[in-house]
Amino acid sequence: MVQDEPYLETAPPEFYRGRFAPSPTGPLHFGSLVSALGSYLDAKSLGGEWLVRIEDLDQDRNQPGADSEILRCLEGFGLWWDGEVVYQTHRQELYEFAFESLRQMGLVYPCGCTRSEAASTYSGRCRAGLGNGKKERSFRYKINESIVIFNDFIQGKISQDPAFGSGDFVVKRADGPFAYQLAVVVDDYHQGMTRIVRGVDLMESTPRQILLQRSLGYPQIQYAHLPIARNANGEKLSKQTRAPAVMPNPDTLLAALEFLGLESPPAEEKNITEIIKFSIQHFDVKRISKK
Ligand SMILES: [Zn+2]
Repeated sequence: MVQDEPYLETAPPEFYRGRFAPSPTGPLHFGSLVSALGSYLDAKSLGGEWLVRIEDLDQDRNQPGADSEILRCLEGFGLWWDGEVVYQTHRQELYEFAFESLRQMGLVYPCGCTRSEAASTYSGRCRAGLGNGKKERSFRYKINESIVIFNDFIQGKISQDPAFGSGDFVVKRADGPFAYQLAVVVDDYHQGMTRIVRGVDLMESTPRQILLQRSLGYPQIQYAHLPIARNANGEKLSKQTRAPAVMPNPDTLLAALEFLGLESPPAEEKNITEIIKFSIQHFDVKRISKK
């Protein structure tokens, strides 16, 4: 991945719709609060809409009740969303339709490799057909481009080989479930998203998502990738690294603002509603640190 030029001026979309898209694998932690807050403030400071989508496709990892816990926590932090909350598990037919379009264009092919055969960067061994005795295990998107360039509102101009780190990537498992990359692209399109603000850990997915958008004839979306919070060992805060749950309170909200490099309200603005109101008025994406 190549990064240069600290920040490129690009006008925000005339109509702004953004989103926060948590997986219901556990309660909101400081890292996910930072993502929610950054995307909320960017949207609201530009008069945009901010939606919440629950990314619950990986049903083995879902934790019962985590979705409502996350939503109550967002409300507690004053991050009120627009419209209905959308659940990915209710949208299979949209993913199926997009998948069939890709298949008809010859852009997906069946792969018979096991997880260990495919390794972390897939070599494309099933592009020419399944080998003898191999059965379909997944369907992969055929990457035909060697470079994708996009302008990130925080990270600058990004150029990346979309195959880097993944090779031709899985869009659907043969036994049913659609992959994250396809579902996200289809949802962002059908929900009318114009700008995605999310953690920089997801930036390596962005070129693959841009390729899917182009192949499906969707308009390209603008991107801003936020720094991600890490624990004392340098690990990304997540359920896997046992990040503690956050509870709504002004100090945690101020810590999230500070983490992003955003202006803190004067000390007399003590409650969450006042802090959020001040932060929308004083939001400046250029203050957000890269990493
Ligand atoms: Zn294969």
